[in-house]
Amino acid sequence: MNWIAWIVLIALLAETVAHIIADALNLKGAGAIPEELRDLYSADEGRKATDYLTARTHMDWIESSLSLGLFLLFWFFKGFPFVDGFVKGIGLGPVLTGVVAICFLGVLKSTLHLPFALYGTFVIEERFGFNRTTLATFLMDRVKSILVGLALGVPLMAGVLAFFEHFGSSAWMACWGVVVAFMLGVNIIVPTWIMPLFNTFTPLEEGPLKTRIMAYAKTIGFPLSNIFVMDGSKRSTKANAFFSGFGKSRRIVLFDTLVNNQSPDEVLAVLAHEMGHFKLRHIRNGLLIAVAHTGVLFFLLSLALSFEPLHAAFFMRSTEVYTGLIFFSLLYTPVEFLLGFPLQAWSRANEYQADAYAIRTSGLGDALVSSLKSLHKTSLANLNPHPFHVALNNSHPPLLQRIRAIQKGIKAGFAGEENVVSSE
Ligand SMILES: [Zn+2]
Repeated sequence: MNWIAWIVLIALLAETVAHIIADALNLKGAGAIPEELRDLYSADEGRKATDYLTARTHMDWIESSLSLGLFLLFWFFKGFPFVDGFVKGIGLGPVLTGVVAICFLGVLKSTLHLPFALYGTFVIEERFGFNRTTLATFLMDRVKSILVGLALGVPLMAGVLAFFEHFGSSAWMACWGVVVAFMLGVNIIVPTWIMPLFNTFTPLEEGPLKTRIMAYAKTIGFPLSNIFVMDGSKRSTKANAFFSGFGKSRRIVLFDTLVNNQSPDEVLAVLAHEMGHFKLRHIRNGLLIAVAHTGVLFFLLSLALSFEPLHAAFFMRSTEVYTGLIFFSLLYTPVEFLLGFPLQAWSRANEYQADAYAIRTSGLGDALVSSLKSLHKTSLANLNPHPFHVALNNSHPPLLQRIRAIQKGIKAGFAGEENVVSSE
């Protein structure tokens, strides 16, 4: 084993252990619901929420230890040179060999995940009453995801491999450009082409809710072409809302589970929060961060591609572009892990800002609180997450902190004068 192999090995083990420790701390505190949130769960629901968290956590532990163990076996029993030799034997040339080998490894990985996805959906989610999906829908979802992944991923992968194959390490800038264009393109085609493959979108019917949403969007200058209701209830009882697309294709999507279970005030408060993310440029900044991150990644990748010790660490005798890509992503694990902390913290800070924006512009602070409470209640959320678990995993702040911040905002007088849409 060379020093690169040690770095990758220690990083993979450390990451798994860090997650297990965070989960264990989280489980330990889960039963202790904070005073201010006691009214949210009955004693029975509190127990159910802890049981749900326990079931999910235990399944995650089994899956992550098993996949780490199998990966280490694959690595140390020289799986990479074996797959490489096998695929090269087909005689497809360097680019297609890379595409086929990466697809093959991808299939191995998703096959390993499949039993856990089945168990998670049809045993755990089912037992706690969240699951609404059928086996047929579940399997069709898989098939469609694989086809969409192949249709989008294969050309992109082939392009990146071909660039590096022909232009050597100087190809990183071209790859960066292509991938950024791809990211923007995906943002455009996902709402209009891809999501309708999985769900049905119906325009929100004319009525007071639609009128109020449109009126609110207008007061804050949010360009909104249409509002859709998505049949989220086809798969789960959990509710959500989001918007997607650019310019004219921008649309707001409400889960039917949200529209049916929350009051118009609550729905509007959630949307005010979502539009806040847009108005405060969180979406644009997130995209800029992703673009910069991709550039740095490709630059580092270009340095790593022909780096022999990286290939030797995985028992490869030759340096291939596609194996360089895979090995580099493994070597990058610890950086990714560490970058996760500031990025999640940034995301949590954005949540507070979007909440404050929603209170200030819609005056619906109380509705936002009750909506958040009901979303947490219906998903049996852990009301007392451990700070380390939050720092490691959560893009959203814990409910208690969020409610406290919102109530502070309401008291500070955000609500009231600018209350333009809350009363009909
Ligand atoms: Zn948000």
